Amino acid sequence: MKIAVYPGSFDPATNGHLDIIKRSGALFDKVIVAVLNNPNKKPLFSIKERMGILKKTCGNLENVEIDSFSGLLMDYAKSKNANTIVKGLRAVSDFEYELQMAHMNKKLNPDIETIFIMTSSKYSYLSSSLVKEVAQFGGCIRGLVPEIIEEDIYRRFKKVTV
Ligand code: ADP
Repeated sequence: MKIAVYPGSFDPATNGHLDIIKRSGALFDKVIVAVLNNPNKKPLFSIKERMGILKKTCGNLENVEIDSFSGLLMDYAKSKNANTIVKGLRAVSDFEYELQMAHMNKKLNPDIETIFIMTSSKYSYLSSSLVKEVAQFGGCIRGLVPEIIEEDIYRRFKKVTV
């Protein structure tokens, strides 16, 4: 069985993330979207909220599972019997960091491959942090994040939607 883990902060999930999840779902028997619990970061949405958003927006895909993890990704992937890590690549700027991570992860567990899926061009400029920055100042984020969380993002910055 081909099991892939798609790790990330997903704070919050964007349409770029959802695009990668759908496309990975078509390639693997099972895709585990794994929300990273990073105690060093102060997220906008809690782990539970981030998982809830993902469940609501891609819970209908039958081979997609939503989970969370902390610690080393390779330990988590092994515990889930995953043989692949899926990452999304947006631009050259993602490449250097991802290359370094992929090599380190390969050293930690040579049996697990990292594969990269190129972003759809319409989402190539999209990141959770940029969405938050725009929303913070009341800019329009329509079409960038799932509709069900649009209002909530503005509310967290105490902004009213346009
Ligand atoms: P970000 O805060 O940059 O959105 P995440 O840690 O939540 O980052 O991202 C998880 C994974 O999703 C990473 O592999 C990242 O490269 C990928 N990703 C993020 N945004 C997009 C996008 N717009 N298109 C494709 N992949 C993306």
